[in-house]
Amino acid sequence: MLNPSLIAELREAIGPENVLDTLEDRICHSFDGTFAEELPDVVVVPTTTEAVSRVLQIAYREGIPVVPQGMGSGLAAGSVPFGGGIALSLTRMNRILEIDRENMTASAEAGVITAAFAEEVESVGLFYPPDPGSIKHSTLGGNVACNAGGPRCLKYGVTADYVMGLTVVLADGRALRMGGKAIKNVTGYQLLQLFIGSEGTLGVITEVLVRLIPKPQHVRTALAVFPRLDDASRAVNRVLMAGVIPATLELMDETAVACIEEAMHLGLPLDKEALLLLEADGNDEASVLREMDTIADVCRQSGASEVRIAGDERERAELWRARRSLLPSLARRAPNQLLEDVSVPRSEIPRMVQRVKEIGRQYDLPMVVFGHAGDGNLHPTILFDRRDAAQWSRVEQAVRDTFAAAVEMGGTLSGEHGIGTLKRDFMELALGTNSVQIQRQIKRALDPKNILNPGKMLPGH
Ligand SMILES: Cc1cc2nc3c(=O)[nH]c(=O)nc-3n(C[C@H](O)[C@H](O)[C@H](O)COP(=O)(O)OP(=O)(O)OC[C@H]3O[C@@H](n4cnc5c(N)ncnc54)[C@H](O)[C@@H]3O)c2cc1C
Repeated sequence: MLNPSLIAELREAIGPENVLDTLEDRICHSFDGTFAEELPDVVVVPTTTEAVSRVLQIAYREGIPVVPQGMGSGLAAGSVPFGGGIALSLTRMNRILEIDRENMTASAEAGVITAAFAEEVESVGLFYPPDPGSIKHSTLGGNVACNAGGPRCLKYGVTADYVMGLTVVLADGRALRMGGKAIKNVTGYQLLQLFIGSEGTLGVITEVLVRLIPKPQHVRTALAVFPRLDDASRAVNRVLMAGVIPATLELMDETAVACIEEAMHLGLPLDKEALLLLEADGNDEASVLREMDTIADVCRQSGASEVRIAGDERERAELWRARRSLLPSLARRAPNQLLEDVSVPRSEIPRMVQRVKEIGRQYDLPMVVFGHAGDGNLHPTILFDRRDAAQWSRVEQAVRDTFAAAVEMGGTLSGEHGIGTLKRDFMELALGTNSVQIQRQIKRALDPKNILNPGKMLPGH
């Protein structure tokens, strides 16, 4: 527990209303989207970058761990305050600061909900493409800290492709402003890139500046039904090789579809092995329709028994409702789910999908396969009961084999969710000893007392 005099000092520094230490408040900041949990000693909810600096100055002086938190939707136990200390929640820093139409940029405080930010941007005809499935319950700062992706990333790229500037508070309380609205900038080391995806281990992001693009005017969405999973995974590359880059290309296997159908009753086919959800977009309606025709043809030639093209916005919303309700639907099948996030070269998708299914059979575990297949990012998800020790041990082995398979195929541990604590021990497998050592040196240089999100991302730190 923190010394009461330190809690009093925090209250003095950032206002008593921004320091919470009741058990209820601490419980609310003790978990993320995984099954991991641990109570922080105190929760701080600063409202300005200066207040974040003051909290870190105190924490640095005293050597107290500080765990930055957005909305806690993370899937790697990255924002869980293992070992206690201060949970620093950015959720009261949620203002949109500027939408600059001339420069096509927008800036906001890190705690803004990404969907609210994206809607505001769209209201002036611009577009912020990164669209994690958690867009309605994750923050822009959390997205930057994890370099979040999402369905649209196949065509439009990930969060890092849009960040132009950041304000970050370092472990010792210094505020660092990086980047700006200038499109070209090669002045000095690209420190900005270092903080994107750093998972709260190098600094607390307080403000984000992103570039925007014009909003595509036309979109068509299709659902392709495949009797065989293998055909669906082969169709992914065939669509791209036909010269079309869909805005999204999502794969769902039969267990995923069955779970959605159990929960939502949308009329999805239950006797087929896989579905692909595909979207084409752009500003010229005729070329969007042509792209959708090509997509449908390639899917049929690859073994799809049916391709349903949404006729209007209501039908499109219905198809997306199926995909977006997948994760909550899986929760009906088992008390716990471990959602992995491996990423492989696209050409390896069929082999990776098959390998995941074999691993599930080998360890007698239901393993659901879905994900952003178009960019090679799959989410093999294990359904299990954490209270069953024997089952948990099989889960651990299945995860180990899944990571090994991804790395062996030239892929990696995480495409978008980050490392947190759940994947930390596999970092050397994915990156090699030298890379991990250099990352440790960077961490030490920026956070010599190891107070920022200690124990996350880097093994043995
Ligand atoms: C249903 C569901 C669907 C999801 N779909 C996707 C998806 O499609 N794509 C995807 O990429 N992810 C997805 N996720 C994972 C998760 O939503 C993302 O990782 C998201 O970026 C986390 O944002 P958050 O605000 O909830 O951050 P948190 O969970 O609070 O924190 C995540 C990590 O970021 C750090 N952090 C948070 N805010 C800051 C800050 N301001 N400064 C420094 N560090 C910070 C934390 O310390 C922690 O390490 C999904 C999660 C769920 C539950």
